[in-house]
Amino acid sequence: MEAITRDFFLYLSKNGFLNKIAQNKGGSFAAGKLIGGVDFKSSVRFIRDLNNQGLSVTVDHLGEFVDSVEVANERTEECISTIEMISREGLDSQVSLKMTSLGLDIDHDLVVTNMTRILDTAEKHNIMVTIDMEDVPRCQATIDLFKQFKEKYSCVSTVLQAYLYRTEKDLQDLGKYQPFLRLVKGAYKESPEHAFPEKKDVDENYKKLIEQSLLNGNYTAIASHDDQIIEYTKELAKKHNIPNDRFEFQMLYGMRNKTQLELAKQGYRMRVYVPYGMDWYGYFMRRMAERPANIAFAFKGIFKG
Ligand code: FAD
Repeated sequence: MEAITRDFFLYLSKNGFLNKIAQNKGGSFAAGKLIGGVDFKSSVRFIRDLNNQGLSVTVDHLGEFVDSVEVANERTEECISTIEMISREGLDSQVSLKMTSLGLDIDHDLVVTNMTRILDTAEKHNIMVTIDMEDVPRCQATIDLFKQFKEKYSCVSTVLQAYLYRTEKDLQDLGKYQPFLRLVKGAYKESPEHAFPEKKDVDENYKKLIEQSLLNGNYTAIASHDDQIIEYTKELAKKHNIPNDRFEFQMLYGMRNKTQLELAKQGYRMRVYVPYGMDWYGYFMRRMAERPANIAFAFKGIFKG
């Protein structure tokens, strides 16, 4: 039953028609609950509030699988002005983005041009930009782009997904860069040809990757709401004397708020991923797929306004 629900919401997450309807409806019901606001300016107060509670942030302008040059360029401008506003407002925030939002599905040179402009700005303001990992057909291109940017910029990081068989090798290949890396379980619908079908195998692989990444000296972000993974990381750090400033925990905005604050109180860096923008539909559906309990949470949000 759980697998059927997950597949259903992942199927819905790619429905362009429903996405359009969602955009027209606006995102006000999710604002301040699952997303920051419908634009960056209206998200600033939520970010400041998190910062005041001892939580760091990474912001993501929602929108993926962009198929027009015009929109890809608009996303780039938006990202640049977000970085400038983070700096101006003195927020403790990084930026996350997706290569498809900058034009990966359109033209390789377009993504390189757009991302170069973003990273020039980020480097100037000393703000880390993380390239989110998308689905399998975009994985190799995303890793190649990351390597290309990493040769020139220090303020760029990326994400590896524990559900993919290939990730252990990708982690080894990236080892020489000692990158800032975010490790996640993986959020897309992938076939057993590419990804572990069983949750317990994903969890085991996740633990293995966390250990390898931390022991390689990578600054590692463990992005999970799973207590078992969080406890494992804490124990591992203790066992190998890895200081708290070599890793951080990350969670999504609106999820496990109490746990986020507890981790920060315990002296761990806790970063909250705050999405914002009108294009919230795909993101929202993937959260539904991960945890059906989010459905109740979301509907409560809708009716409470
Ligand atoms: P799950 O395996 O979903 O849950 C394990 C257990 O954790 C549950 O059984 C429950 O006990 C507990 N739990 C989970 N959620 C909650 C909750 N809301 N409240 C209470 N308990 C809960 N995926 C990508 O593919 N690419 C990315 O670039 C990417 N970036 C991400 C960035 C961040 C900061 C985070 C947090 C996730 C990101 N993801 C990304 C999504 C990720 O891959 C997973 O799909 C998602 O995090 C769900 O997996 P999980 O490890 O949180 O735990």
